[in-house]
Amino acid sequence: MSLLTPERYFARISRISIAKDICALGFTHVLLDVDNTVLSRQSHDVPRDVRLWLSQARNAGLSLCLVSNNWHSNVHSIADELSIPIVGKALKPLPHGFMAARGKIGARSATTLVIGDQIATDILGAHMLGMKAYLVCPLVEQDLWHTQMLRSLEHTMLGERTPEGALSAGDNAVRSEDIH
Ligand SMILES: [Mg+2]
Repeated sequence: MSLLTPERYFARISRISIAKDICALGFTHVLLDVDNTVLSRQSHDVPRDVRLWLSQARNAGLSLCLVSNNWHSNVHSIADELSIPIVGKALKPLPHGFMAARGKIGARSATTLVIGDQIATDILGAHMLGMKAYLVCPLVEQDLWHTQMLRSLEHTMLGERTPEGALSAGDNAVRSEDIH
């Protein structure tokens, strides 16, 4: 499997089954990207289904840490609000941000999963440190210009691969019963 190929690809973070797709596979620690993985770049808020998923993950005994390339202080406010530790200015895919995050929560490569919406930062960075990585579709299409440039490359790399848990066309609402 290439460094750029995610182990799994989901429609959004709340479509990942905490029991089946994380805990049952032996993962005990999860490093989470912030922008467009848990935080909408459009509304600058954490959607309700994502908040619920995060609390369910913690209730399941998972240790979480946010790892963001974001330079702005608002990511730290979000981290405080969610009560999840964070490493900001992480410069993913370089390893030091991920390593700092692992250090914060006492994580080891073999049992740590990385979840993020970008191949070139989240997936590549995870794989370079021997961690497994799940790709999620961005919460909203709105992105920074340099991120948008990478999106077309990502689409090429993913080819015909479709995200697991995609909602049917026209169904934009994520229903609570859909959250595992
Ligand atoms: Mg992101």
